[in-house]
Amino acid sequence: MSHVFKHSKVSFHRSLFFFGVGIFSIFMSTAFLYQYNREMLFRKELLNSILQTYNYSILNNVEQKGPANTDLDAITESLTDYDLRVTVMDLYGNVILDNRSGENSIFNNHTDRPEVLDALIKGEGYTVRYSNTLEEPFFYSAKKSDNYIIRSAIPYNIGTKLYLSVDKSVIFFFVAMGALFIGMIFYFSFRLGNAISSLREFSKKAEMDELKDLDIKLPNNDLGEISSHIIKLYTKLNQTKQYLSLEKEKLLKHLQISKEGLAEFDKDRRCIFTNTLFIQYINLISDKGLNSPEGIFHIDELSRINYFLSIHQRGSETINNSEYWSESITINKNGKTFHIECIIFQDKSFEISINNVTQQQEETRLKKQLTQNVAHELKTPVSSIKGYLETILGNKNVSQDQMHQFIERCYAQTNRLSDLLKDISVLNRIDEAGENFTTEDINIRNLVEEIFEDSEELLNEKKMNFEIRMPDNIMYKGNPMLVYSIFRNLLDNAIAYAGDGKSIIVNCYRQDKNALYFSFSDNGCGIEDQHLNRIFERFYRVDKGRSRKLGGTGLGLAIVKNAVLFHKGEIMVKNKPDGGLEFLFSLS
Ligand code: ADP
Repeated sequence: MSHVFKHSKVSFHRSLFFFGVGIFSIFMSTAFLYQYNREMLFRKELLNSILQTYNYSILNNVEQKGPANTDLDAITESLTDYDLRVTVMDLYGNVILDNRSGENSIFNNHTDRPEVLDALIKGEGYTVRYSNTLEEPFFYSAKKSDNYIIRSAIPYNIGTKLYLSVDKSVIFFFVAMGALFIGMIFYFSFRLGNAISSLREFSKKAEMDELKDLDIKLPNNDLGEISSHIIKLYTKLNQTKQYLSLEKEKLLKHLQISKEGLAEFDKDRRCIFTNTLFIQYINLISDKGLNSPEGIFHIDELSRINYFLSIHQRGSETINNSEYWSESITINKNGKTFHIECIIFQDKSFEISINNVTQQQEETRLKKQLTQNVAHELKTPVSSIKGYLETILGNKNVSQDQMHQFIERCYAQTNRLSDLLKDISVLNRIDEAGENFTTEDINIRNLVEEIFEDSEELLNEKKMNFEIRMPDNIMYKGNPMLVYSIFRNLLDNAIAYAGDGKSIIVNCYRQDKNALYFSFSDNGCGIEDQHLNRIFERFYRVDKGRSRKLGGTGLGLAIVKNAVLFHKGEIMVKNKPDGGLEFLFSLS
C-alpha cells in the first residue's frame, strides 16, 4: 500500500506551487474583473457626458424655439458626425419629436425606459439596451429641463464598443504581473520545498538511526535556520538520550551488584528489572521454587506485602506528586533475617527490596575467627605427628609393626595437612587476586556430568540417585577450576552428609541476561537452622568429629562461596520443608 502511495504522492514543492498559483489566480481574476468593471463604467460615463452636452444644446434650442420649430437633424449635424438619434418628450414621457421616426411612427409612453425614468427622478440618466423601434442596441442618454426631456442615442455598434473597450495596457499589466508572481511563487516554493526535502531526509535518517553520515544542505534563509535549529535540537536530544541510557546502564549495573535484592514492577505487576540477589532471596524465603520475580505475589511469607499491594496498588486511590506509599516487614527464615520493603510510586508502579540484615555481622565474625581457626586446624595434625614421632624416637622397644602403624598415621596426618594447605591456598588465591584466574567458555552441563561420573562408584556404593536438570548447551564464561570446585564440593558434601539412599538434584532454574541460577539439593538430613548461617565460614563444621572422620577440611563450602563470589554470584542455603539441604546460587 505504502509503495503505491509513495508513487502517487505529489511533492511538497509542487503542491505548494499549485496552491500559490491557485490563490494568485483567484486574486488576479477578482482584481481584473473589478478593474474591468470600473474601466467600463468610466467609459460609459465619458460617453454619457458627451451625449449630455449634445442634450444640453438641443434642450436650449427646444426651450427657445419650441418643439414645432426645431429641426433636430440640422442641430445634430452641427453638433457631431455621429449618427445621433434624438427624441424630445414632455415631462410625462410622451414623445413629441424623434429624428428617426417615419411618418406613421407611433411612440408609446417612454416613462418605462430606465434612462427616462432616471432623468425624471435625478435630472439625467443613461443606459445601454436594445431599441425596439430601431431593432439594434443603443446607448441612450437622457436629460430633463423644466418642460422637456431630451434623449440622444447612438448605436452601440463596433465603433462604440471600441470606444468603450478597456485599455489594453491594463490587460498587459495584469498579464505581466501574473507572470512575475508565478515566477516568484515558483522560486519560493522551490526553495521552501528544498528546505522541506532536507528536513524530510533528516527525519528519515533520524528514524533509521543513520545520522552518522548526515550531510544535509540547508537553504540560506529563515526556513534553513529553523531546520538547522531542529537538527541541532534533535542532536542534543539524542546526546541526552545516550547520556541518560548510559546513566541508566550504570544504575542498573549498580543495582545488579548491590547487596540488596531488588525488583521493579510496572503497574500491571510485570517485572521491569530484577537483580540476581532478588531471585535468590525469594527462593530462600519461599519453598515454592520460584523461577520468576513475579512469583513473589503468590508466596505466603510475603502475605502482608501482597495485601498492601492489593489495597493500594490495585485500588483507585491516587498518589499525590512526590509522594509514595510504602510497607516494610521483617522475616526470619533459614537462620537469616530479611528486611523487606515495598514502595508504590505515583504511576502505581512499585519496587520490592529485600535486605539480608544478618549478613554484615556474619562477615566481620568470619574474618576475626579465621586466624584462630587456621592455627587450630594446623595444630591438631602437627601435634599428633609430633606425638607419634616422639613415641618412636623415645621408645627403643617399639616393634616393627607398631612403628609401621605410627608412620602410617603420620602419613595420614601429613595428607590431611597437605589437603588443608591446598584448600587454604585455593582460598587465598581467590581472596588475593581475581586476575590469577583466567576465564573461558564452559559447558556447565558437560562439567556437571563429568563430576557425577567421577563419583559414580561412591554414589553407587551409597545407593544414591542424582538428577541433572539443565539444558544441553548451557554455556558460561568463567574459570573452569573454580566452577568445577563449586559443583565438586557440593557433591562431595551431599555424598558425605546426606545419607545412604538419598537423591541429589542439580537444577538450573533460571537463565536471564544477568546470570544463571542454580539449585543444588539433596533430600538428606539437612542442618539445624542455627548452623545454616555459618556453614560457609572457614573451618565451620556442624559435627567436628564426623567431618574430620570423613576427611573434611572444613573449607569446602568456604571455597564454594568464594568461587561463587569470584563469578559475581551469590550463594545461600536453606533446609527444604520435606528434609534435605538446598543451596541456591547464581553465576553472573
Ligand atoms: P567439611 O570439610 O566439614 O565438609 P564444608 O565447609 O564442606 O566442610 O561443610 C561444612 C559443614 O556443613 C559440614 O561439616 C557439614 O556438617 C555441613 N554440610 C555440608 N553439606 C551438607 C549436606 N549436603 N547435608 C548436611 N550437612 C552438610
